Amino acid sequence: MANEHSLYAPSSASRWTACPGSVALSMGLPPRPPSIYAQEGTQAHRVLEHALKGELYTGPDEMLEAVNVAYEYIKNLGGSQSYERRLRMPYGDGEQWGTVDTTAHKPGHLHVIDYKHGAGVPVHAIENLQGICYALGVLAERVFVEEKITITIIQPRTGEHPIKSWTIHIDELLSYLPFFNDAIVKAEECIAAVALGLEMPHPLNPGKEQCRWCPAAETGTCPALRDLALTAAQADLSGVVTIDELRPIHLPEPTDLPVDKMAEVLAIAPILNQWFSDVENYAVTLMRKGSEIPGQKLVQPMAKRRWHGKDDLLATRLSEITGGAIPRDTFLRWSLVSITDATALLRRWGKPGGEETRTAITEAMAFLTLRSSTGLLQMVPLSDARPSVSPAVDFKGVDVTSILDGSGDSNA
Ligand code: SF4
Repeated sequence: MANEHSLYAPSSASRWTACPGSVALSMGLPPRPPSIYAQEGTQAHRVLEHALKGELYTGPDEMLEAVNVAYEYIKNLGGSQSYERRLRMPYGDGEQWGTVDTTAHKPGHLHVIDYKHGAGVPVHAIENLQGICYALGVLAERVFVEEKITITIIQPRTGEHPIKSWTIHIDELLSYLPFFNDAIVKAEECIAAVALGLEMPHPLNPGKEQCRWCPAAETGTCPALRDLALTAAQADLSGVVTIDELRPIHLPEPTDLPVDKMAEVLAIAPILNQWFSDVENYAVTLMRKGSEIPGQKLVQPMAKRRWHGKDDLLATRLSEITGGAIPRDTFLRWSLVSITDATALLRRWGKPGGEETRTAITEAMAFLTLRSSTGLLQMVPLSDARPSVSPAVDFKGVDVTSILDGSGDSNA
C-alpha cells in the first residue's frame, strides 16, 4: 500500500519547494491533531464525492450550499470524470502520492479540479503547485494525450469569486518537473545532513505561503521563524530565557522606526501573524482536549443576535410594538433593518416612557431575535470576566479526544 503521508505531497508543494529544509525539520514532529476546520474540510470533500457519485449524503446546510457550487460546476463540465483519484507523482523517487478531488477529460483537454472548503485564505489557480502536481500525476498515467490543461480551484466561502481557473499548454506543465525534482534533491540533502548532526546545506526560507501550514511553524520549533520574531522585536535578547523575562521588552514606537526598518517589519509581519495564529489555534486544540496553558482559559464566544422569523412578519411586529407610531415600512426597506437600527428606532420612540418602556422593548426584542455563536471556544487571558469552560468536564462520558482527533471516524 502506498504511503498516505508522502514527504513530498502535492498538498504541501508550496512549502517543500520554497523551503526544502522544512521537510527535515518536520520529520521528527508528532502528527498534529486535525483542527475543527480540517475536519470540516474532510467532511465537505466526502459530501462532494458522494454527491458526484450519485450517492446519499448529508451535512449542515451551510456546507451543502458551498459544496453545491462545486457540484454544479463539475457536473456541467462533462467529459470523462474521476473523483478522489489516487495518483503516483512522477517526481522524486516515484513513491510520492496524492489524491486529486476531481479530473475531467475532454478530447485534448484535461481539467483538474480542487475543492477548498476553507473560508480564511483564498487560494489562486494561477501557478497553483498542488494542481500542477496532480496534473503531472494524471499525465504520468499516460491514459490520455492532452494538449491543454486547466487547473480549477473552487472555494465558495471566501467572499471572492468562487471559481478560478488557469489553462496552460502541456509543455508549460512539463517544465515544472525539474523544479519539483530540484526542490526534492535539496530537501534530501538537508535530511541527510540532519541525520549526521550537520548543519543543513540549504537555509530555511520563511515566507507567508510556505510557513502557513508548516508543522515546524505550527509547533513553534522553526529557528528561522524564531529569529524573525526576535529581529522584529529589535531587542537584545541575549540571556533571555523565560516568558516573564520577555515581557518587559518595549517595542519601538512606529514613529521612531527608520523607513528601511519599517519596510523590514512590514515584510515579515504577515509571516509572524500567521505563526501567532497557528500557535493560538494549536493551543486551543490542546486545551479542548484538557491540557492547561498557564495564564489562558477557554470561554464561550460572545453570542451574536440574528432575526428570528420572516422579514415582513418581523417588520409588522416591530411596528405593532409602537402601536403603529413607527410604520412597518420604516423597518422594512429593501430588506429588514439591522437589529441595532431597529433597537435604536424603538428606543427613540419609547424614550418618553422611561425605564419601564425600555425594559418592555428589550423583552420584545428578545422574542424577535435569536442568540447564536459559532460554537467554537475562544482562548482568552485568565483576567477575562467570562467563566471558563472545560470540554473535558462539560462533555463527561463522551470520548472528546476521539472527536477532536477525528480518530473516532475510520474514514478520516
Ligand atoms: S516554518 Fe517556514 S521557514 Fe521554518 S521550516 Fe517551515 S517553511 Fe521553512
